[in-house]
Amino acid sequence: MVLPNLPKCQRCGKGDLVPLSDYTREGTPIPYKAWACTNPKCRFVIKIRGKGEVEITESSDKSNEQK
Ligand SMILES: [Zn+2]
Repeated sequence: MVLPNLPKCQRCGKGDLVPLSDYTREGTPIPYKAWACTNPKCRFVIKIRGKGEVEITESSDKSNEQK
């Protein structure tokens, strides 16, 4: 899948931010729920929550998958 015009990561300025999709508990897909930096040394993640809230996180090197 090739996505044109990916936004650059504002944090490291090297990686691109790629959209990630998620699913609700009901199984409804939520496209672009989160954006993650492709730079493995950066690990910048933006999560879009409901009601226009945006959560900015940084994944630690212990890449524990959150459920
Ligand atoms: Zn980055």
